[in-house]
Amino acid sequence: MCARRSELKNQLHVCASSVIFMALFLFFGISKNSYSLTIAEYIQQEKKQKDEHYQKFKDQWFDYLNEEAALPEIDSVAFVRKASEDYLISFGGLREKLGIMSKKNTYGFSFSRNDDEHRKASYHRAHRSIFMDINEIKGNQWLTLFVHEVAHSVDSEMFEALSIFNDKKLIEEIQKITQKKKTLSELSENQLISLEKWLTAGLNLGFLAEYRAWLLTYLIYEEGLADGSLQADEWLENLRRNRPQDVPLNVYIFRSLSPSWIDPTEGFFSSPIVKEALTTLRKKLYNDPNKVKLGQIGELINQF
Ligand SMILES: [Zn+2]
Repeated sequence: MCARRSELKNQLHVCASSVIFMALFLFFGISKNSYSLTIAEYIQQEKKQKDEHYQKFKDQWFDYLNEEAALPEIDSVAFVRKASEDYLISFGGLREKLGIMSKKNTYGFSFSRNDDEHRKASYHRAHRSIFMDINEIKGNQWLTLFVHEVAHSVDSEMFEALSIFNDKKLIEEIQKITQKKKTLSELSENQLISLEKWLTAGLNLGFLAEYRAWLLTYLIYEEGLADGSLQADEWLENLRRNRPQDVPLNVYIFRSLSPSWIDPTEGFFSSPIVKEALTTLRKKLYNDPNKVKLGQIGELINQF
């Protein structure tokens, strides 16, 4: 009984396997005939078409850098992003490192201007998107601005600062300080720490984010000028020309940017104690820019 049962089971098993095999054969046979491509082949074909499309416009992209632009109508945003990344990667050094990081990064990319910004190029930290006005940005500026905005998109210190600056408990603490105290000398050690932590986070979202991004941009700009892969930019050229030999680059960039960064004056920033704390903090960082954490950008630069 048991033997017969197992025989029957084996026969059924073989039979079932054959049916499944036949079904699979028919399915794939028919689908192959009907659609002529497997999914893998389809993906491969799509990739090939995209590569050919990209290759076709690649030379024109280099023309674009010389302001004789002709961009593809289809997928032009994706094309320009990939072309900019590939261009940077092809020259090695920091450009290659940043280009690779950009490829892995999931930021949004758009040719329009960000509604909140008036600048030709910007990075929106909440949307995690790069906005670059392709009609307004000159060919010689495109890559340096692209580098600058991508630098923002890999700034780990800026992202970390978002949650600190918006931390409810910390904000409540700052509120109490602004309501009850007038000068820094009245604060306890812990209150001083909290206030500096919140203000540092604020600076990390603004001025210090610009400092880190320009530091990396400057280094890549110098690399690019040395081998001709990047074209001269008036503002960076001015910065480069005036650089004193005896001042470290990070100190020089920090101190060059600092005077033009105006602190906010609304909300907590209108309180005298916050103003005093922010002035003190900015002076401290101005005297020693090495105190500024560079995070992921620092790992990339690996110099300061
Ligand atoms: Zn910036």
